[in-house]
Amino acid sequence: MLHTKANEIDPTGRKVKLANGKTLTYDRLVLSPGIDFRWAAVEGLDAKGAQIVPHAWQGGPQTSILQKQLTAMPDGGLVVIAPPGNPFRCPPGPYERASLIAHYLKKHKPKSKILILDAKDKFSKQPLFVQGWNSLYPGMIEWVAGGEGGRIERVDVKTRTLYTESGDKHQGAVVNFIPPQKAGSLVHSAGLTNNDGWCPVNQRDFESTIHAGIHVIGDASIAGKMPKSGFAANSQGKVCAAAIVSALGGTSMPDPSYVNTCYSLVAPNYGISVAAVYRFSKDKGIYKVKGSGGVSPKDANADFREKEARYAVGWYDSITADTFS
Ligand SMILES: Cc1cc2nc3c(=O)[nH]c(=O)nc-3n(C[C@H](O)[C@H](O)[C@H](O)COP(=O)(O)OP(=O)(O)OC[C@H]3O[C@@H](n4cnc5c(N)ncnc54)[C@H](O)[C@@H]3O)c2cc1C
Repeated sequence: MLHTKANEIDPTGRKVKLANGKTLTYDRLVLSPGIDFRWAAVEGLDAKGAQIVPHAWQGGPQTSILQKQLTAMPDGGLVVIAPPGNPFRCPPGPYERASLIAHYLKKHKPKSKILILDAKDKFSKQPLFVQGWNSLYPGMIEWVAGGEGGRIERVDVKTRTLYTESGDKHQGAVVNFIPPQKAGSLVHSAGLTNNDGWCPVNQRDFESTIHAGIHVIGDASIAGKMPKSGFAANSQGKVCAAAIVSALGGTSMPDPSYVNTCYSLVAPNYGISVAAVYRFSKDKGIYKVKGSGGVSPKDANADFREKEARYAVGWYDSITADTFS
């Protein structure tokens, strides 16, 4: 385990230059560099401006900035969340974030409001989120679809104001603008991306379709119908490992199966989920197995929602143990 950055990949010579000065050679290279942002697609906002208008879509200092701004905000302030268009990291994430901010505001700053200006016209688990918002936070969260004035044209960082395509402007006490995304920067310089900025791979073993011997998993890869989630990345890692073991051992790999569940907390004791099992076919790539998984029922009672919240916590414990221990 080397705790250092990979600076450069030479796909022809099969070498990786590290920030610590060393160069490694490889038989197989597995990359999971996560996401980067398409700053050029957002007028008025860049990585520096994100110190004032945080995205908080990568771990680390960004999430602390958002948390501090929410704590410092006066009661009665407006929180604006601007989720990007598809594809992006964690499809239900912005709406879970809105829910949990609402939970905080209801307790500490009940006169405040949350406005979600979406680039999209629909979002993951939408009926379940909206139902939860209506029952737990009536009147606090307003969601505006992309086609109905949600799409942002320009950001004025200094005044924390968002200008929409339809000519409206919204100034927030806190503005959480989540920019459109692409694969993490390392894979761009290595020429592993397509025109949209994501990595095309053979979805059976995650080997790049551009450079042989390099596998890309997680958010950076194009993984058919799988969402960009931590659970999906974990599942892809296992399939990729099995594929590499088979390739190096000269055996044929069994047909893979992949899995994902995305739990969201609408409140700490109110959980909802979407789950699916996936398989691979040559024609369709990774596809959802018909009848597998599904979303939480709409007519569930409080006890059911509380159980799902507990499953969400249990899922988090097991996925972190499975991934990192
Ligand atoms: C608010 C929010 C909530 C979420 N909730 C869930 C959830 O409930 N369930 C779920 O399954 N997923 C969730 N996700 C999504 C999940 O976090 C991502 O899908 C997952 O982290 C993707 O894993 P990854 O390995 O592709 O990228 P990352 O987790 O971002 O890992 C990439 C790593 O590579 C490192 N790296 C990048 N470039 C280099 C380089 N050149 N050299 C060395 N290291 C490098 C980065 O520092 C980083 O540590 C959530 C995301 C957000 C933002």
